[in-house]
Amino acid sequence: MAEQGKHGGTVFGPDYVRAISPYVAGKPISEVAREFGLDEAGIVKLASNENPLGMPVAAQRAVAAAVADLGRYPDSNCFALKAALSARFGVPEDWLTLGNGSNDILELAAHALVEPGQSIVYAEYSFAVYALATQEIGARAIEVPARDYGHDLDAMGAAIAPDTRLVFIANPNNPTGTFLPAAQIEAFLRAVPPNVVVVLDEAYNEYLDADQQYDSIEWVRRYPNLMVSRTFSKAYGLAGLRIGYAVAQPALTDLLNRIRQPFNVNSVAQAAATAALGDAEFLRRSAELNRAGKAQLVEGFDRLGLEYVPSSGNFMLVRVGDDDGAGARINVALLKQGVIVRPVGNYNLPRWLRVTVGLPEENAAFIAALERALA
Ligand SMILES: *Cc1c(COP(=O)(O)O)cnc(C)c1O
Repeated sequence: MAEQGKHGGTVFGPDYVRAISPYVAGKPISEVAREFGLDEAGIVKLASNENPLGMPVAAQRAVAAAVADLGRYPDSNCFALKAALSARFGVPEDWLTLGNGSNDILELAAHALVEPGQSIVYAEYSFAVYALATQEIGARAIEVPARDYGHDLDAMGAAIAPDTRLVFIANPNNPTGTFLPAAQIEAFLRAVPPNVVVVLDEAYNEYLDADQQYDSIEWVRRYPNLMVSRTFSKAYGLAGLRIGYAVAQPALTDLLNRIRQPFNVNSVAQAAATAALGDAEFLRRSAELNRAGKAQLVEGFDRLGLEYVPSSGNFMLVRVGDDDGAGARINVALLKQGVIVRPVGNYNLPRWLRVTVGLPEENAAFIAALERALA
């Protein structure tokens, strides 16, 4: 490890930075086409939990219009988008933080709230960025064993140490798709010490079934140590633009505002997000397509006799073998057939693959390719 930091005998950077394993993203279509000698047009990418419908039309129009102004810096305060979010959630503008993706929000929270050496609590099999945000600031990770592939909130509460300043909770969780009912989260919020900030990461909130939905913004009003983060990358279909947001009381928002880059959200993203936020019909269609797609995947997994984790997100975790080489092996067999999914060995789930719910024909192509890969 240390070797990588050595140049002419000089070791650059702190140990905790050199110890980081870089984030492994889903493979781009162009890269798979090059590597496997395939035609890009025939490749199915179900690797990054993107919306298979792409961008809402209203957002596409807003992007086209915003291009004319790209000679200028963006609005550092995201005025129009904050006004729209403020109206949507009934919170003042100074309760809102915009980020370069919600990934930015997660890192801002770690940087703003935690000193090197202090601890951050998150769950086993939860989103990889929690570990990265912890490592990059030299904080100590307290990773709490999962229960049935999801967060064990009782154990997470018990794991909070005197030096813990932050807890990350993903609901639904990525990569497992597990869901925590509202009552469990609220009980956790009541029990957490008031100096420990809880970041409730709701990247897939818009996909929840009606009977799962809950009002986390109302919790923000009651708990000054709660920050809810959401994104435009998933259900809103704007992953390439990089924009997400946090809702929290002003004491927390103020801290994030002090350390964010002055222009952390570009003007095209701001315009697209403002337009997408008003497109309720697109969200409804996305959620409906997702529900049908999950049913299609479940039917395929059942037919192939594969274990899967029931998912509340726009993706599913499926076990593709009984040995620790299974995930990587089946992944390559799928890539050769032009199907890109996400291996999750880096999450210590080497027998599993995560697949994003796609269009009906994409889901069918994946199941067919999976059946051949397993044969
Ligand atoms: C995708 C994802 C995010 C971040 O996405 P951004 O594109 O950075 O907004 C955050 N949390 C979870 C759990 C995710 O799966």
